[in-house]
Amino acid sequence: MTDALLPVTPEVRILPRKRPEGARTNIVGLTRPQLRAALIAAGTPERQANMRVGQVWQWVYHWGVRDFALMSNLAKDYRALLAESFEIVLPEVVTRQVSDDGTRKYLVRIAGGHEVEVVYIPEDNRGTLCISSQVGCTLTCTFCHTGTQTLVRNLTAGEIVGQVMLARDDLGEWPKQGAPKDETRLISNVVLMGMGEPLYNFENVRDAMKVVMDNEGIALGRRRITLSTSGVVPEIARTATEIGCLLAVSFHATTDEVRDRLVPINRKWNIATLLDALRAYPGLSNSERITFEYVMLDGVNDSKEDAHRLVALLQGIPAKVNLIPFNEWPGAPYKRSSGNRIHAFADIIHNAGYASPIRTPRGEDIMAACGQLKSATERARKSRAEIAAEAGQPPPPRVARRPDAPDLH
Ligand code: SAH
Ligand code: SF4
Repeated sequence: MTDALLPVTPEVRILPRKRPEGARTNIVGLTRPQLRAALIAAGTPERQANMRVGQVWQWVYHWGVRDFALMSNLAKDYRALLAESFEIVLPEVVTRQVSDDGTRKYLVRIAGGHEVEVVYIPEDNRGTLCISSQVGCTLTCTFCHTGTQTLVRNLTAGEIVGQVMLARDDLGEWPKQGAPKDETRLISNVVLMGMGEPLYNFENVRDAMKVVMDNEGIALGRRRITLSTSGVVPEIARTATEIGCLLAVSFHATTDEVRDRLVPINRKWNIATLLDALRAYPGLSNSERITFEYVMLDGVNDSKEDAHRLVALLQGIPAKVNLIPFNEWPGAPYKRSSGNRIHAFADIIHNAGYASPIRTPRGEDIMAACGQLKSATERARKSRAEIAAEAGQPPPPRVARRPDAPDLH
């Protein structure tokens, strides 16, 4: 493989954020200290500020209220003052698709007209919301559909929190005033595994997760949140110290040669460097293990030798290995490993003492599975031949589309 074939970051167009002059401040996504400062700047007396933060916070994040007029424990004048300076807005849901298996995918439009995807995955004992941190991704993992998108913009903290709120809206999950407290959680877990590399948008992701974790609002515990990174080594420790959530790492290969090709950021921070950072991850313990994500690509990284090498690399790290059968997308340069091969791989990891669940692909009929997310407007910008060249593979044969598959192009 030559460097020229494998850019760590491709030619991307970084989009500026648009914010019209004189616009009202969106409350969604402000941290408590930011909200306090904004309320004071809008005319709230300083000695009342903490109380006002608490009140507004509860309305927005506990009750899901969007209209200042409904904040009944605030004086009318104060509600008017808030409405003059602030707004409570979420990204707009453009389309909502529901899979045969109950998975929901939302295409969401953010300021500037760009789009990201959000996926809700209901399971027997939990419901996981997979959210995005960027429009597209500056990285170019060759098996990932998002990595072929050329438009990139960091989401604001408000746009990240907003994804959780709009899913709660759709699922009807806000508590009802006067109704008995309902402890069942439709969204019990949040994973930063949608579009984008969260550690390349660290501050916004951190602030958003602070809002989502806050006890007087959405109140998801820190262990209910998992951030997945492709291996941005310098930011890994901050994930523990500044967010405190669980960590997943897109590992996917057991030699630098193969990982360089699959996850090009490996050429910046290779396997040994990444493992050093993981061994040093603050708070690492058996109850807070690191998840190693490993996509199963036929004939590329799925041999028994790979499994044994992986076991050797994991030594000394409290870890679990999540095996992800490759989710194919139109033009993808890889094939999913066979069930037999995935099970043989899983057994080797399991016998070495590590949990090695095989992820059940969900929402495949609506292209909602891991790594298939790419905004419709940006889909198919890169040709299949270009993707194949980056992966160091011959151009793939045409992938037949299911006749009943929704047309997302
Ligand atoms: N950028 C982050 C998080 C988003 S991707 C990261 O890379 O970790 C979430 C997971 O899906 C990652 O482990 C990613 O490698 C994996 N993934 C990407 N494309 C996939 C595909 N087509 N099939 C299966 N998993 C894929
Ligand atoms: Fe970006 Fe993650 Fe996809 Fe790699 S796998 S291109 S880091 S979203």
